[in-house]
Amino acid sequence: MRHRSLLVDALEKSLKRTSRENLCQRLYEGRLLNRTTCMVCGNKRDSPESFYDVLVQVLNCDDLPASLRAYIQPEHMSGDNKYFCEVCGQKQEAHRAVILDTLPPVLTFSCQRFDIDRNTWQRVKVNNNNVCVVCVRAGE
Ligand SMILES: [Zn+2]
Repeated sequence: MRHRSLLVDALEKSLKRTSRENLCQRLYEGRLLNRTTCMVCGNKRDSPESFYDVLVQVLNCDDLPASLRAYIQPEHMSGDNKYFCEVCGQKQEAHRAVILDTLPPVLTFSCQRFDIDRNTWQRVKVNNNNVCVVCVRAGE
């Protein structure tokens, strides 16, 4: 399972052993696919994963659509990071992308507000306030 917010963790704890024990799961849990596509034969492999919120990048993104484009941008796997394709029987270049497969009734975004400064290797806070959507009801 991917990132889950402190708020959802706290809610789940407080709802344990009550009639609404699964409320957070019913409201916030969705499913995504980590899809790897072989660039030689086109074979696709999906690894499903549940999520409670979508952790979007803030750095270099002016708004939520830009953050979502960055979120679904496929990662190119090459060199030492090649993917072993079971159809080809060897390591190949590939694309790996995240696909939001099943959306929950309430889709929540969290902003990834920290990055690594590649000069100092220290964690730095990203002070870009353009992306600040907290919660969107799916289907609206
Ligand atoms: Zn292949």
